[in-house]
Amino acid sequence: MYIDGQWCEAASGARFDVTNPATGEVLDTVPDGDGRDAARAVEAAEKAFAGWAGLTAYQRAGYLAKAHALMMARKADLARQMTLEQGKPLKAALAEVQYGADFLQWYAEEAKRVYGETIPSQRADQRLLVIKQPVGVVAAITPWNYPVSMVTRKIGPALAAGCTVVLKPAEATPLCAVMMFRIFEEAGIPAGVVNLVTGRDPKPIGDALLTHPSVRKVTFTGSTAVGKMLASQAAQQMKRISLELGGHAPLIVYPDADPVLAAKGAAAVKFLNAGQACISPNRLFVHESILDTFLDVLRQRVDRLKAGNGLEDGVGIGPLVGPAAIDKVERQVADAVDKGATLVAGGQRLTDGGLDKGYFYAPTVLAGVTPDMTIYREETFGPVAPVIPFGDDDDVIAMANDSTYGLAAYVYTRDIGRAMRAFEGLRFGLVGINDINPTSAAAPFGGMKESGLGREGGRDGIAEYLETKLGGFSV
Ligand code: NAP
Repeated sequence: MYIDGQWCEAASGARFDVTNPATGEVLDTVPDGDGRDAARAVEAAEKAFAGWAGLTAYQRAGYLAKAHALMMARKADLARQMTLEQGKPLKAALAEVQYGADFLQWYAEEAKRVYGETIPSQRADQRLLVIKQPVGVVAAITPWNYPVSMVTRKIGPALAAGCTVVLKPAEATPLCAVMMFRIFEEAGIPAGVVNLVTGRDPKPIGDALLTHPSVRKVTFTGSTAVGKMLASQAAQQMKRISLELGGHAPLIVYPDADPVLAAKGAAAVKFLNAGQACISPNRLFVHESILDTFLDVLRQRVDRLKAGNGLEDGVGIGPLVGPAAIDKVERQVADAVDKGATLVAGGQRLTDGGLDKGYFYAPTVLAGVTPDMTIYREETFGPVAPVIPFGDDDDVIAMANDSTYGLAAYVYTRDIGRAMRAFEGLRFGLVGINDINPTSAAAPFGGMKESGLGREGGRDGIAEYLETKLGGFSV
């Protein structure tokens, strides 16, 4: 753990194992922190706050730029560490490190653009002036599926705004966070400005962060269930909160779309990170007139995907995070098949060739999925593509919107009118139109409905860490 500029053990002295989900081997151990460590980290962050907030934006930007340069220099090491503890193929891990580094660079620049405003007054003797100030100490809680970019997507804008931070990374992927904090240390970021608390049991750490009065902002990426619990805890002290939660993304393929292009796009985004992404398409609505071609191409793409250890050449799909993830996928697929869905590809756990030591599930395509199946409503977080035929434009928007989630949606069409109607009609925070990657450090990312609150990335992302203060001056 890294608290007040020092690498340290947990107060309990205990450590826990970090394992490779592809092989089951223990990679390393890290300190098993608890509420005492979290409280100490908050106090260090509180002590450092005035000094960090008091630097000029140019000075804070300088530290972020140094951390960005170090990340780029260590891109290969970070990616390898990510593949080892999280499982995604090395190429995808390299792409994530680049995406993660982009947040440090973009917010180094944006730090200098935190503008206030002056407002004309109705009184001749009055001047109204608005300034932006950092909210204070930030508690950041991150998931295992994007273990580098979720760290920088929070720490980049928080530091740029002038906040200090305590990070609790996921139990499954603390080693990427440790590497990132070595980079923050080497970048010369002053003691107490960034603090890292690792732990096996998130509850005591979460409770300490959520009840400490010095924490003025909580930023969380993870499941909707945990997000709701943290939001209700945060309400007790009116802490500011941003939440990036679950998703159940629709992907709509209209009859005028090229079904080959759409199926290739669907395969690429669905099986990225073995489906363990909040923006993974979980409901593929395909017009009945092009369904056969779409399914054929999707099956061909799936047949080409090689599952295995992400460090090996040619591997396109890695393991799931653990046994519970395999159970969930097996349960959803069995329920769908029982209720009449057809297995077009996959549909079983992979164990041959040494894969039994990890948590591998075959990339799977289900056709004929209907609303009575669990997979139609429940987030999957695994490599299963459920295909649902449709016939009418209005119906498909209503079907896509029929979810408690509202994070990402995808649309394939060559008709500009349809594209615009879908873009406006879909109740989702990000919509990719013939585009499977509508994300960028420069653009707002976040969900509607139970997919979350607030946005990360772009101008909106730094606003989450700023208070607005009005000054009225009688002159
Ligand atoms: P999770 O169980 O909610 O865990 C997320 C983080 O919260 C982890 O660090 C976890 O610690 C911690 N946590 C769990 N219980 C806590 C508590 N009581 N107090 C404080 N912290 C607590 O979610 P996950 O399984 O890791 O991630 C999958 C979910 O994240 C999916 O639903 C996915 O859609 C969502 N996600 C959303 C986005 C987005 O940007 N919207 C991005 C990625 C993932 P431990 O690891 O120690 O349990």
